[in-house]
Amino acid sequence: MATMASKKDYYETLGVPKGASAEEIKKSFRNKARHLHPDNKDSGDEQAFKELAEAYEVLSDQQKRANYDRFGHEGVKGAGQGFDNFDFSNFSGFGMDDIVDMLDSFFGGGGGMRGGGRRGGPEQGSHLKFDMEIDFLDAVFGTEKTINVRRLEDCESCKGSGAAPGSNPIPCVTCAGVGQVQQVINTFFGQALRVIACPACQGSGSKIDKPCKDCKGEALVRKQKEFQIKVPAGIDAGTRLRVQAGGDKGRKGGPFGDLFVVLHVKEHETFVRDGETIHIRQPISYSLAALGGEILVPTVEGAKPLKIHAGTQTGTTTVMKGLGVPRFTGQQKRDNRRGDQIVHLVVETPTKLSSEEKKLLEKLAELRGDKLSLSKADIAKAEEANKEHQAKENAEKNSEKKAKSSAKDSENGSEKKSDRTGSETAEESKKESGKSAKSKSKKEESKDNSFLDKIVDAFRPKNGETQQ
Ligand SMILES: [Zn+2]
Ligand SMILES: [Zn+2]
Repeated sequence: MATMASKKDYYETLGVPKGASAEEIKKSFRNKARHLHPDNKDSGDEQAFKELAEAYEVLSDQQKRANYDRFGHEGVKGAGQGFDNFDFSNFSGFGMDDIVDMLDSFFGGGGGMRGGGRRGGPEQGSHLKFDMEIDFLDAVFGTEKTINVRRLEDCESCKGSGAAPGSNPIPCVTCAGVGQVQQVINTFFGQALRVIACPACQGSGSKIDKPCKDCKGEALVRKQKEFQIKVPAGIDAGTRLRVQAGGDKGRKGGPFGDLFVVLHVKEHETFVRDGETIHIRQPISYSLAALGGEILVPTVEGAKPLKIHAGTQTGTTTVMKGLGVPRFTGQQKRDNRRGDQIVHLVVETPTKLSSEEKKLLEKLAELRGDKLSLSKADIAKAEEANKEHQAKENAEKNSEKKAKSSAKDSENGSEKKSDRTGSETAEESKKESGKSAKSKSKKEESKDNSFLDKIVDAFRPKNGETQQ
């Protein structure tokens, strides 16, 4: 068995010392598996992954590990046999944690599996999610809200034992109070012995003879619990606030899970928020736009004066510094930085005019030499110009044809052609530049958006959660 002799030491393969704990072995396996997994384009190595899995199969199982320690590879013949023909791409679509868990269950080894069942010990309760809607301005300035959450808590009647008052849980017959039973399972790697939580007692090792009436033996009951939620200033929709131990009570005396409060922010009829920036649309009259002046503009801090320059065009934006959203730092305290308010000015054309206004406007038009209607001469002139233009176009088309059919004319034709294409490309490039300017501004917008998203993300605490 020359191949056996050349086999690498399992501890070496996993990169752990001989005395490594089960937890160390698992941790190292996870790290290395992530690195070597064939799905990983950069560092994936199927052969190395199989070797790693084989090493883990042995070292994660107490019995196999003991045999390996005493007899080396000879002591664990057959380990990893299934791997050679095994297609690991079957695992694609699963997270690495899922894969490790799967391998753990195939091997029947490993420790501290999720999903409970380990000796029926205490488990942390479930995390809960609560959707909370707040007003636009509350998100800007922060607020405090009271919410009621239905969550599992210890049953008071049985003090969390699940047994009716006066009775006590008795040892489970199926597992003799151990909480675990052995089961033979068929895996990708062949038959394996697997230790599972006792199905009769769900791993608790005990059975309740007379269940408590209030919790039906569950030891936990759902109750309303009030929480005070502090919403920091500057928080944005979608942020999750984490209330530690705000979730369900764990079984068998396990700790509470956490409560995640997901924020939803109501739309405001005036303000539109983009990160720390607030946008508003502010209509102004054409006379104000022409003459300039000062108006009151709504802000999140109430109406504030804003200067309008003479000759303001519609679509002009004006920045009102520091009247945006306070920077959300992820902490309860806020720093002093604050976004701006951007006012989008829209010049409104009056739709109803009094006769006096009409007269004044007509007078104004006269003063400015604005033409309000067309004379027959104007129309005739335009038609003439159109005809000339058409004639020129036709002539050019003809000369192009000629240029194609006659080589002699090529000089003249190409000159004309280049002339034409010259003007055409100029016009096209004009259009293009208009387009690209538009698309650019769109791009910039999206860039801004993603930039703002990044800012929000940057200030979000690591797991997208805020400690309460
Ligand atoms: Zn049992
Ligand atoms: Zn009870």
